[in-house]
Amino acid sequence: MSSVNIETATDLEEFVELTPTRPRKLVVCLQCRHHLADADDALFVDGLHEYELANPHGIVHKFRCFRDALGCAIEGRPTAADTWFPGHTWRLASCGNCRTHLGWFFESEKSFYGLLTIKTTVTSLDEYTGST
Ligand SMILES: [Zn+2]
Repeated sequence: MSSVNIETATDLEEFVELTPTRPRKLVVCLQCRHHLADADDALFVDGLHEYELANPHGIVHKFRCFRDALGCAIEGRPTAADTWFPGHTWRLASCGNCRTHLGWFFESEKSFYGLLTIKTTVTSLDEYTGST
């Protein structure tokens, strides 16, 4: 005689519950909706994800940090001048599709992107595929 293994059944239910399919969120260009990065690539740099910093001309930029933004095109030569993050050089990051300036690529052993909050937006994968 075999009996139902209740313990295993419970484990399986728990397993299913613990692995929901999380809707994927994308960071896209506000201008052309080009896919720039995954929201999951959000990065905390020195404890912050979002920064609000002024450049030497006094213009305040609000941007969010991402470990990767494959939809961006990186332009210009790396420079350390007026860098906000000591030890990092920076280059301009633009939209890989419409070339709008979207932020910067901060380069070091731990490189990351800073994407301007006013030039990017977050959308769900469903919304994204539905809009194209
Ligand atoms: Zn664009």
